[in-house]
Amino acid sequence: MYKAPRGTADILPAEQRHWHYVEERAVALARRHGYQRIDTPVFEVAGLFVRTVGQETDIVQKEMYTFEDRGGEEMTLRPEGTAPVCRAYLEHGMHNLPQPVRLYYFCPVFRYERPQSGRYRQHHQFGVEALGDADPAVDAEVIGMAWGLMQDLGLRDLSLLVNSIGDSACRPAYLDRLREYYAPRLEALCPDCRARHQRNPLRLLDCKRESCQPYALEAPRSADHLCPECQEHWQSLLGHLEILGIPYRQDHRLVRGLDYYTRTVFEVHPQEEGGQSTICGGGRYDGLIQELGGPPTPGIGFATGMERMVLNLQRQGVAVPAEAPRPIAIAHMGPAGQREAIRLARRLRSAGLTVVVTPAARSLKAQMRHASAMGAAVTLILGEEEIRKAEVTLRDMDAGRQESVPVEGLEARLAECTPRPQ
Ligand code: ATP
Ligand code: MG
Repeated sequence: MYKAPRGTADILPAEQRHWHYVEERAVALARRHGYQRIDTPVFEVAGLFVRTVGQETDIVQKEMYTFEDRGGEEMTLRPEGTAPVCRAYLEHGMHNLPQPVRLYYFCPVFRYERPQSGRYRQHHQFGVEALGDADPAVDAEVIGMAWGLMQDLGLRDLSLLVNSIGDSACRPAYLDRLREYYAPRLEALCPDCRARHQRNPLRLLDCKRESCQPYALEAPRSADHLCPECQEHWQSLLGHLEILGIPYRQDHRLVRGLDYYTRTVFEVHPQEEGGQSTICGGGRYDGLIQELGGPPTPGIGFATGMERMVLNLQRQGVAVPAEAPRPIAIAHMGPAGQREAIRLARRLRSAGLTVVVTPAARSLKAQMRHASAMGAAVTLILGEEEIRKAEVTLRDMDAGRQESVPVEGLEARLAECTPRPQ
């Protein structure tokens, strides 16, 4: 028997209501802020990610699904959404549009990780990108959207963490300070941290090992080592967040795992679980488009994990509306009854009603049981008698009442007994 590959999941009909709920709210939020949808291919030339996400990152070193296609080109299944959107921005000359260009996406994302709760090899992200404007007000807009989405979903007990990691002017000196700070402490750190000390010292700050964390707490802080431009940007952003009334917390250990981030970085976490189950992560990436060969173009965005939002909705017991209305079932007897049922179903569906015809060649009793198992709110029964009189027997499945109703004008009668959601 075949099974879904390790780390992937089928999203079954019963779970769709949560997915749909998140999608609807996310789209509404994006539209309210003037963001337009973009879809990019599931795979891209591998170099796009190696170049932008960074050689030293977990994604590039351990997590990418890269393969050679039949033409001999190295391709990678999308491990994150930002680089493809920036590639599309450049490829389609979007710098000629009014800036910033505001885009949102929903897409599957592939990372070869160790599967566990909330961590998959194929997951799905909703994300937004605002390209072409470096103003801190845009940072505040994007952070406000990330926080607003969590509010719109009805999720509680979340924390919003923000930090500034500087830019190419001030970060190199800060990284030196960090290396100096950690150099005499290397013995006490985990092997991952020791390996990253020279090449990627920022990542020592967000090591999840308990034994490494006390050192990160005491480490020099990027926000204390910003150049005047980054400092101004950071202070201005904090001011905007105050105006928006967004309850952020500064966390100097927040650095994010991708190389392309500059200045602002932020994450949304469930309060009790710390960094293990981040729901949303984002930041500014002012050098990314230039890295792809384009003109200097600032950008900022975030991505949220659909699976993790759904998981938190379920854990918190957030009420989510039913996916589809309860159907109207049509039960029928005899060949004439079945023909009439098919005709009537077609007619009612074109009036916008949800209709299922119960399986033929079963007793009326069995058909009624089927209708009930399908969650039908109403069952219409078509037998010889009904057909002769141009009537149906309408059974209210919840009340257990039934009555004869003319087929003529049935739509209006059915609209009256609006089915309650399940
Ligand atoms: P983590 O620290 O949990 O590995 P990340 O920093 O690698 O997260 P991002 O690259 O910022 O994650 O991706 C954006 C969001 O996508 C995350 O906040 C998370 O909600 C979700 N996500 C990332 N990796 C996975 C995964 N393997 N399975 C499910 N969701 C994921
Ligand atoms: Mg990760």
